[in-house]
Amino acid sequence: MSGNKTINVVGAGPGGFAAAISLAENGYNVNLYEKNDNVGVRFNGDFQGLENWSDDEDTLSILGRLGIKINFLCQPYSGDDGYFIGPNRKKARIKTSRPLFYLIERGTGENSLDQGLRRQAEELGVNILWNHKMESLKKGYAIVGTGPKAADAIAKGMVFKTSYKNIFIGFVDNRIAPQAYAYLLVNNGRATFATCMFNDFKNEKTYFERSLQVLNSSIDIDIIDEKEFGGFVNFFNEPILSKGDRIFYVGENAGFQDALWGFGIKYAMLSGYYAAKSIIDNELYSDLCKTHLYPKLKASLANRWLFSHLYNPGYTYLFKYMAASDDVIPSLRKHYNFSLSKKLIYEMAKRWYRTRLINKQCMHVHCDCVWCRHGKHEHELVENC
Ligand SMILES: Cc1cc2nc3c(=O)[nH]c(=O)nc-3n(C[C@H](O)[C@H](O)[C@H](O)COP(=O)(O)OP(=O)(O)OC[C@H]3O[C@@H](n4cnc5c(N)ncnc54)[C@H](O)[C@@H]3O)c2cc1C
Repeated sequence: MSGNKTINVVGAGPGGFAAAISLAENGYNVNLYEKNDNVGVRFNGDFQGLENWSDDEDTLSILGRLGIKINFLCQPYSGDDGYFIGPNRKKARIKTSRPLFYLIERGTGENSLDQGLRRQAEELGVNILWNHKMESLKKGYAIVGTGPKAADAIAKGMVFKTSYKNIFIGFVDNRIAPQAYAYLLVNNGRATFATCMFNDFKNEKTYFERSLQVLNSSIDIDIIDEKEFGGFVNFFNEPILSKGDRIFYVGENAGFQDALWGFGIKYAMLSGYYAAKSIIDNELYSDLCKTHLYPKLKASLANRWLFSHLYNPGYTYLFKYMAASDDVIPSLRKHYNFSLSKKLIYEMAKRWYRTRLINKQCMHVHCDCVWCRHGKHEHELVENC
């Protein structure tokens, strides 16, 4: 395709922005449709982590390759900057040879990842159309990164001010975060504390209260001006990549999400980048995803199965094992490798795991919807109705 064509991107999240930035850098005109009047509206100024353990290459170097500049808060946190607390409430300190994660901010704030990506896209001439909730796109290529559509895991938390500077604490205990974890992230006197859960959502309030008690018994932290927030993520065991050969799904909307712990930002950006690359270089998006994203995605589902079956005694053992390691990064990376044992576990895990997404379909005769999931065959069936 020649460089002066216009491509439509739907959703100004990390997935949509990565696609838009890559296309614009390669000379394409990009219309980016966003349903809100700003970026990051579904977030609350809360801190998140760009994980730095699943690839050999450092995450910031990967972002550099995608053409993404670091013009947002992006602070490295290594093993020295915090610790973990298991079900026995003992501190487990870990050693890391490089940052374990990069702390970033999400939301509408000036230093957030979302605003940083917005500035980069605007500088490259991406035409962002605010308040455009897209339901359908009639013609041309479209890259759709509209975020999660169902809650497969949820988080309940709060942001607050504190006199602490920089620290992270990860808590693992099924009594406070069923099959997941709670986390404290502090940067420069601002903090995020949340508990995540993969089941028993109806008791989220109880888990949050319990996790707060554990926080207060673990660290003497002052909590000022707290504001509560909640959120959710979704993942499918098989992502849905496209509709026909012109609408490509990226990020969580496609089901790209780390099934183990919900670290979906890197997946969103990478899938956005590969969707753009498939248009720029005339390659198959499915091939790019299968080569670069599926192995880790499948390993993460196998890891989810394993983690869900460890229970509290297993978590205690896990922390002992991690604390004894000279460098946890290589062992974490090994667990994201789709090895033979992970392949076997994955086969079991994909039968065990069911997304909560109800896959709605429209009833249009000629389907241009960005949200429904008509494959070609299903589309024809509707047409014949
Ligand atoms: C509380 C919480 C904590 C998290 N912590 C982490 C973490 O520490 N590390 C990590 O890697 N990940 C984390 N995640 C997951 C991460 O935030 C997501 O995986 C990531 O934001 C997905 O990016 P995306 O581009 O696919 O979707 P989103 O970020 O959801 O962006 C989608 C965009 O599309 C827009 N949109 C939706 N529908 C339409 C429409 N019809 N038309 C136009 N625009 C539309 C939305 O308004 C939004 O701007 C967390 C998630 C939550 C909820």
